[in-house]
Amino acid sequence: MKIAVVASEVVPFAKTGGLADVSGSLPPALEELGQDVCVFMPKYRTVVEQGLQTEPTGVRLEIPIGGRTLEGSVEWAFLPNSSVKVYLVANDEFFDRPQLYGESGLDYVDNLERFAFFCRGVLQFLETANMATDIIHCHDWQAALIPMYLKTVYRENPFFQNTKTLYTIHNLAYQGTFPGDQFPLTGIDWSIFTIDGVEFYGGFNLMKGGLIFADHLSTVSQKYAEEIQTSEFGCRLDGVLRRRAEHLTGIVNGVDSTEWNPETDRYIACNYTAKDLKGKAKCKEDLQMQAGLDVMPGKPLIGVISRLADQKGFDILAEMADYMMGLDVQFVLLGTGNPNYHRLFAEFGDRYPGRVSINLTFDNALAHKIEAGSDMFLMPSRYEPCGLNQMYSLKYGTIPIVRATGGLADTIKDYNAESKDGFGFVFVEPDPKTLYFAIKRAVDAYRRKFAWQGIVKRAMKRDHSWKESASKYVALYERIAQRP
Ligand code: ADP
Repeated sequence: MKIAVVASEVVPFAKTGGLADVSGSLPPALEELGQDVCVFMPKYRTVVEQGLQTEPTGVRLEIPIGGRTLEGSVEWAFLPNSSVKVYLVANDEFFDRPQLYGESGLDYVDNLERFAFFCRGVLQFLETANMATDIIHCHDWQAALIPMYLKTVYRENPFFQNTKTLYTIHNLAYQGTFPGDQFPLTGIDWSIFTIDGVEFYGGFNLMKGGLIFADHLSTVSQKYAEEIQTSEFGCRLDGVLRRRAEHLTGIVNGVDSTEWNPETDRYIACNYTAKDLKGKAKCKEDLQMQAGLDVMPGKPLIGVISRLADQKGFDILAEMADYMMGLDVQFVLLGTGNPNYHRLFAEFGDRYPGRVSINLTFDNALAHKIEAGSDMFLMPSRYEPCGLNQMYSLKYGTIPIVRATGGLADTIKDYNAESKDGFGFVFVEPDPKTLYFAIKRAVDAYRRKFAWQGIVKRAMKRDHSWKESASKYVALYERIAQRP
């Protein structure tokens, strides 16, 4: 089948979160299964800054936005280590900027125009280049206008008569909402701006548009697919999702094993395998040195890599952080986000020199070192659509301590000392005390060397490669394509 994957970030071209990992690693896995697949993303400044070479396609875009016609072009490059082509929709006014979505976490005021240009650009390019497509696989609000355009402006266009859309939700909380009076910028008729359409409490909601107009919906774990149909997790769109429950599928993300694999990882001090963990001890020493921690091989070292957002449970963590240090552990955090958490965790670091390392930056190499060098990996998320770091952690024998929500619940099995089963520490209630006892359980197990080795071995045996999930996507694409 011919598949076009449309996402606003793709590794290695641009990344702010897990979406980029998925849209950079699913397409090669689909290709390996014999699918004809290409990828679309905007041509951001980061592409050039990283020295990634692109070629012109020769296609010029002319996109109506509001009353104006804006010009653009499309360039292309291969996804590294594959023959999948990535098409980059270019318009310097919109995409040659320091950030992907906005300065210091704030949204750029013209985001609707930017992503309307992008989505319409994708469709115009497919038609101009005569690239008939069976499935356009759209990811998150930035690509949500594609299903909307196909069912409105492009409805009668014969070129797209056999094209179906799958819309994947990576995080329902980020919806792309705009003042209602910006809606005409899309060029779509007002008739869909109703309560049953894209209107949302007086505004215009791209996520809602994707949920209503796509032929099928998916999200990134089975558990999250169930959770988002409840008012607790539904971000005020649970009603829309319940109405489409029949057309909503959960498929857990895979791990890119060329990027995340302790046997081949080029960022870590020493490669290692489940059979021979000596290298992991070297990685711990290297991490302790680099992170400014006392070099102590026997101290349990807890790692965190995350956006510093409320979603990730940092309020709960901050509340119990001093109690955690009472368990005689070391702690390393890598993350950026909410300035309030920057301040809280910087202060926490200052209280424990040599024992706590706080790194408020985005640093891929350090992320790899933390995965390899830590003993445990903490994710106390309030909700987690899929989560990638817990799966990376399993591969590196770094034992996840997670809250039972979304993809964390689907991928991590709680350790049971009696049945010698499980490869993580799972807790349910999102409160500081429950989190503390989960960490304490992990630290106690760590001190029983033989039991801990068993946990690490079981963790490293888990297979979260893309193969199984990519096959599920192919089966889903086929089902969608066959629908009348
Ligand atoms: P989300 O998409 O909600 O941010 P995921 O767990 O799905 O969370 O994916 C996060 C991805 O971003 C992982 O690959 C993680 O390693 C990476 N990441 C997050 N913060 C940082 C950071 N400060 N430095 C390097 N990598 C980071």
